[in-house]
Amino acid sequence: MARFTLPRDLYYGKDALAELKNLSGKKAIIVTGGSSMRKGGFLKLVEDYLKEAGMEVTLFEGVEPDPSVETVMKGAQAMTDFQPDWIVAIGGGSPIDAAKAMWAFYEYPDTTFEALCIPFNFPKLRTKAKFCAIPSTSGTATEVTAFSVITDYAKGIKYPLADYEITPDVAIVDPALVETLPPVQVAYTGMDALTHAIEAYVSTLNSPFTDPLAIKAIEMVFDYLPASYKGDMEAREQMHYAQCLAGQAFTNALLGIVHSMAHKTGAAFSTGHIPHGCANAIYLPYVIKYNAHDKVAFARYADIARRIGLAQGSDKACVNALIEKIEEFNRLLGIPKTIKEFGVKEDEFLAKVKDIATNAVADACTGSNPRAIDPEQMEKLYKCTFYGTEVDF
Ligand code: FE
Repeated sequence: MARFTLPRDLYYGKDALAELKNLSGKKAIIVTGGSSMRKGGFLKLVEDYLKEAGMEVTLFEGVEPDPSVETVMKGAQAMTDFQPDWIVAIGGGSPIDAAKAMWAFYEYPDTTFEALCIPFNFPKLRTKAKFCAIPSTSGTATEVTAFSVITDYAKGIKYPLADYEITPDVAIVDPALVETLPPVQVAYTGMDALTHAIEAYVSTLNSPFTDPLAIKAIEMVFDYLPASYKGDMEAREQMHYAQCLAGQAFTNALLGIVHSMAHKTGAAFSTGHIPHGCANAIYLPYVIKYNAHDKVAFARYADIARRIGLAQGSDKACVNALIEKIEEFNRLLGIPKTIKEFGVKEDEFLAKVKDIATNAVADACTGSNPRAIDPEQMEKLYKCTFYGTEVDF
């Protein structure tokens, strides 16, 4: 038996935000991040639409990037005080992720992060409130996924929360919210979305339900990302949908070791943070070469190239065409070919790579990767992504 879960309703397109007028409820709390939604006028719009729906509205603002346990507890307290029957999260991945965790603590004040981070072990939500997510970036697709990441800065750990209970009830994918994204963020988040779709397609949990979503997302990223990067707003809109489709695929098929590797190197080096989407973009071609040694994965990668019309002919020609296309996109978007080129120092990399490799193997995303990997192989793979050498093992 398997399960496939998505939000109950997904509103998309120009003015999709106005659908908030049609939510039925008594009280809504809006959870958001810094000031960009307020400056862009979207926060006011959301508030007005919810009031038009006849709801009493309160705000919880200031969720930081990589939201903390403290912020989640504060938000949950605000919910307990206000007793909303709708939680409306608007912004990048962080406020939406934070609101998902606040929701769990609002409904179950006595639960703990230790309990919640056991995968797919959440108590039943929706006894107090429903959840609406409105993304203002194109990449994480948290508006449709069962995932949230919360950081305990005091303990230095991240709690990855995963359960279909936190899949939002309503997602509003309105392209107006991504019009002002800076190009570098368009590039990184676009490649994150591509990675989600490709990893979902070759995941051991791929299915007839997730495959069409993944393939369409890959096709759309290849069609629209370069123009979106250059500021074409029609393409930007299509990318907003593509990342959402990729999210629908990976929330059900899960991911693979590109994400395991990116998770463990994001904050590992003193030379600076490697943005999630950038790390994924760098690792993706190397991981395809590693996974392609597995017969099933090899055929699945070839299938991607064939189904989106990238190449025909032998499986080998098709897999090569897919890798070349990704490398071409990385060049076009100004993404380095190696983490050395990104700026990671060799001595620091070599000093840390063994531990990073061990941690990456233990990451939650490794389990659904199509080819098994041990810490030694992971170390070799990281070295390929540092030196730009061939993956021949
Ligand atoms: Fe990602």
